[in-house]
Amino acid sequence: MTDKSSKISVFERRESEVRSYCRGFDTVFTSAQGSEMTDAEGRSYIDFLAGCSSLNYGHNDPDMKNALVEHVMSDGLSHALDLHTDVKADFLESFEKHILQPRGMDHRVMFTGPTGANAVEAAMKLARKVTGRTNVIAFTNGFHGVTMGALAATGNSYHRGGAGMTLNGVTRMPFDEYMGPDFDTAELLEKMLSDRSSGMDAPAAIMLETVQGEGGLNAARPEWVKRVAELAHEHGALLIVDDIQAGCGRTGTFFSFEKMGIEPDIVTMAKSVSGFGLPMALVLVRPEHDVFGPAEHNGTFRGNTHAFVTAKVAIEKFWKDDAFEKELAVKADVIAEGLASLALMVEGSNMKGRGLMRGVDVGSGELAGEICARAFKKGLVIETSGPEDEVVKILAPLTTSEETLRKGLSILLDAAREVLDTTKMAAE
Ligand SMILES: *Cc1c(COP(=O)(O)O)cnc(C)c1O
Repeated sequence: MTDKSSKISVFERRESEVRSYCRGFDTVFTSAQGSEMTDAEGRSYIDFLAGCSSLNYGHNDPDMKNALVEHVMSDGLSHALDLHTDVKADFLESFEKHILQPRGMDHRVMFTGPTGANAVEAAMKLARKVTGRTNVIAFTNGFHGVTMGALAATGNSYHRGGAGMTLNGVTRMPFDEYMGPDFDTAELLEKMLSDRSSGMDAPAAIMLETVQGEGGLNAARPEWVKRVAELAHEHGALLIVDDIQAGCGRTGTFFSFEKMGIEPDIVTMAKSVSGFGLPMALVLVRPEHDVFGPAEHNGTFRGNTHAFVTAKVAIEKFWKDDAFEKELAVKADVIAEGLASLALMVEGSNMKGRGLMRGVDVGSGELAGEICARAFKKGLVIETSGPEDEVVKILAPLTTSEETLRKGLSILLDAAREVLDTTKMAAE
């Protein structure tokens, strides 16, 4: 028995069947640096998954790593509930100075439990408390996490089915272009909200992702987002932007909604906010809506002391000026160009997404899965998304060099070509 297979057998023997990503990548990873991961046999892989956008600055960024090691070695606090600490102050000051103030945002920062789902729970609860209303409007193909409150807002029936009870308090409306390009779903929403006999209860909040990460990389048009934001305000509802996956630079700007002319009442953040893959979640709240009493929404792990250290480095390294943003625009074009070649290969396929969260809807989950599996054999870690897993999705670290991006894209294209040739041969 090789070392690798003995290690894999413990997962099969003991790890719950709920495990998922590991099923597509049959190896044991041992180290990672930048945009590359290495397995127990010394093989290296280009990472186009990046912890589902939790590693936007790559693996083990040297500056974050050094700051964290120094913090640990000098007996900096590792856990502090929500007590004041030096590193928490440093993080908040950085976040205020380089993220909130330049964008004209007066939001307060609420630390929730460290998962995205907990941030969404807090956001939904807060909107309900602020408005005294129950109903939250969420959209088709939205993904907001799998705890009960958040799951009620999540569209996917597989995840919803895991609840084992009714999921309440959410009205589902069609996302932008859900009915094709000619049907304005914001107009439908407006009609439903205005018609006192539509059967829709007045909403506490309208919650959306500007680009639906898990739901298939559906990118809402800015004018649609703007209209929905206006409708929220006209109807006394808070606008919640769930920026857990699309935020932290993923769409090319720090927040996904910048340049859309909206000011969300609440923003949820998690995934890449620590910069280092450490768990941390935030809810940004306009001051007038900051109405929870002390510990009304609490949690033992609110704010992660180690994450404060790395998050501050991430902000100061990448977001102090617009140099990184400019780099991202170039990389987004490289990715779009590569994916356009993939789209050309697959008849009837569609380009999806925006910025550096892009993919191609290849029409079937089976084909998308085969392409990703083949790419993995060739040294590329890449996943699918969408209701039928039909979208081949690129979430490379934003720090990936152009050269590595091109290398990964060429592996992806080779993999797709091989899969398509095999399928064609089988059909002949
Ligand atoms: C991942 C994700 C969540 C849930 O975050 P967890 O940390 O997995 O609980 C919520 N919303 C969006 C948009 C996400 O991508």
